[in-house]
Order: sequence, then C-alpha cells, then structure tokens
Amino acid sequence: MRDCYREVTGWMESLKMPVRLDAAGNLRGFYSAAQPHAPRLLLGSHLDTVPNAGAYDGVLGVAIAVSLLEALEGRRLPFAIEVAGFSDEEGVRFGVPFIGSRALVGRVDEELLAVHDQQGVSLRGAIEDFGLNPAEMPQAGMGGDYFAYVEFHIEQGPVLEDLGKALAAVDSIAGQSRGELTFLGRSNHAGTTPMHLRHDAVAAAADWILSVERIAQRVRGLVATVGKIEAQPGAANVIAGETRLTLDVRHATDEIRIGAVKDLVMQAQEIARSRRLTARWNVLLEQPAVPMDPFLVAEIERAIAAAGCASHRMMSGAGHDAMIMAEKIPSAMVFLRTPDGISHDPAESVAVEDVEKAIECGLHLLDQLAASPAAPSSAIRERM
Ligand SMILES: [Zn+2]
Repeated sequence: MRDCYREVTGWMESLKMPVRLDAAGNLRGFYSAAQPHAPRLLLGSHLDTVPNAGAYDGVLGVAIAVSLLEALEGRRLPFAIEVAGFSDEEGVRFGVPFIGSRALVGRVDEELLAVHDQQGVSLRGAIEDFGLNPAEMPQAGMGGDYFAYVEFHIEQGPVLEDLGKALAAVDSIAGQSRGELTFLGRSNHAGTTPMHLRHDAVAAAADWILSVERIAQRVRGLVATVGKIEAQPGAANVIAGETRLTLDVRHATDEIRIGAVKDLVMQAQEIARSRRLTARWNVLLEQPAVPMDPFLVAEIERAIAAAGCASHRMMSGAGHDAMIMAEKIPSAMVFLRTPDGISHDPAESVAVEDVEKAIECGLHLLDQLAASPAAPSSAIRERM
C-alpha cells in the first residue's frame, strides 16, 4: 500500500497538487479552483484490491481522475477537484467493505474500529501500525463544500462487451437479498423405497432451482442465483432427507426484488407441499438499492455522447464506494467495458481506446458542470 501511495502521490505532485493521507488511509489530492472557497467535486475510486486480483479494479478510476486533471493542463474551473484513492473498499482483511469511503461520510465509529482481522489485529491497531492516528478520523469527513462524487470503474461484467459499447452511465447500484432455503423431507433407502412413497429433498431442490431461473428470466433486470447446495446425509444409495440452498437476488428497484423473493419462497412452499416435504426460509441479508443522482447520470450520458460513444444506462450488480458517498452527496459512476467480463482475476483487462474515451467523457463532464448557470453546483445543490 505504501508503494502504491508513493506512486500515486508522485502523479499528483507532478501536477503541483497538495496530497495528504487521512486517518483512514485514503490518499487525497487537491486541485484548486479559479477562485478560493469554491465548491468541490470529488473524483475517485479505491486503491486496495483482492488476492489474486487484476490490475484495474479500483485503481483505474484513480488513474483516470488524475489523467483528467493532467489533461486540463493547469486550466482552473469554477470548482475545485479533489481526487480520493480509497484505502479499503474490498473488505478483504476485516470482512467489512468500504472502510475508506465510510470515513468520508463519518461512519468509521468505535464499533468499526474494534473489528479484528484473522490475526486478532483491530482496525484501530492496523491504522496505528501504519503510522496514522484514529483520533483524527473526524478530519477525514467531508465538509459542506463537496457538491458531487463521480467514480470511473470497470464494469466487471459482460454487458457492455455484449452490446459493443465502451462506456455506460450507472443509474443505480442494485439492492440485494440473500437467504437460505431448507427443504425437509425424509431420508430413506434408495433401493427399497418406491418412487411414489418418497419425500426426496434433492428432487424438490432441483425443481425449485429451475423455477428460480425461470422466474428471474421473466423480470427485466432481475438476477437470481442459487450458488450453493448441500444434501444430507449425502450418500449415493440414500434418498436425501434435507437440502440447504442459498439464494441471492438483486434488482435496481427494491419492490421488485422484495416481490421476487416473496414469489420464490412461495414457489418453494408450493413445491414442498406437492412433494410432501416442508420448506423453511431464513433471511441472511437485506440491502436496499442505491439510486445514483439523476442530474449527474444525465450529464454523464451527455458526456459519453459528446465523446462520440453510444450511450447506455445500466445498473451495477456489485457494490462500490459510490453507494457510500451517495449517503451524503449526489453521486454517479461511469463504467468501462471489461473484456470477457472478467474481474477479480489476473486476466482482468481493459482496452486502451476505452480508457481514452473515458478520459474524453470525463473532460466533457467537467466542462458541462463548469458551464452550469451561476454556481457549477447549483443544479445539484437545489435538490440537496
Ligand atoms: Zn472495485
């Protein structure tokens, strides 16, 4: 992380930007406005990554932000620009994602500082070991002068490649439901129990898995996944008496997601009834969708078109720092096409031409925000 900070700090210092590391380990560079006391646009993404990762998830967004400022060639805008390289988005070490961006919205509290990694080191201890002071966490928070957050990020999925498009405006970050479904039947001898006298939990699970797929295919934008299945007792010559399945459901609209989960659980009960078993549903996670700011999304679409690309709006199925920033300030994202949709893998890549288009789009976006009447942020501020 220190090597990464040194490298990115060098990029920003070459643009004469003052750079600081806040108490949560976020690297923050400042590009001043034409006037003092101007509002501030935040551009950024995360600098951490996952084990066995690719080279672009997160850090590309920081590199694009710095490239945008470089392309301004010293030109000053009616607003200042801060670049944030967030410290811990993935949550690999402490099992809690978005630690860096949480600091900006004032959500790194005592409870979070007390979480431990697998070696028993607390977040507080890790921050101190790095040479930072957890007591200075409040100074990492955003003051009232920030008017928007924009994040460039690889899509990490196959949608843009499939459409033959380089860029997309992200209009929402999907809400997510996760739970575990258990079918309870009766285990019995595979040789002596006739077909019509069985209470087969694996057959019920198979039936339900296919209806999950069928129901999700019928609803636009809905994704539903059974990613894990366990059968008990789990022997070749025994009819399974119990199966446990995970279900993960995501959609940009909470009502649609919640309705779909309800339908799927009802479907499981129906299947259980007709097969003379019981079904039990246990909720593990309910996370609401986070809409991106409509004004910023529309401006990003305009900027994508101005860069000569076909525009596209899409939902992000994965979580990002932008969903944390959206708690406090209008936020939006630009997705870049991801070859083969591969991410969190060394094969992760991005096309140089797509990065060029993203930078072009970013420059148009800055000009559009600068050309907004009166104060650049007035259109956004009015709705805050
Ligand atoms: Zn990421």
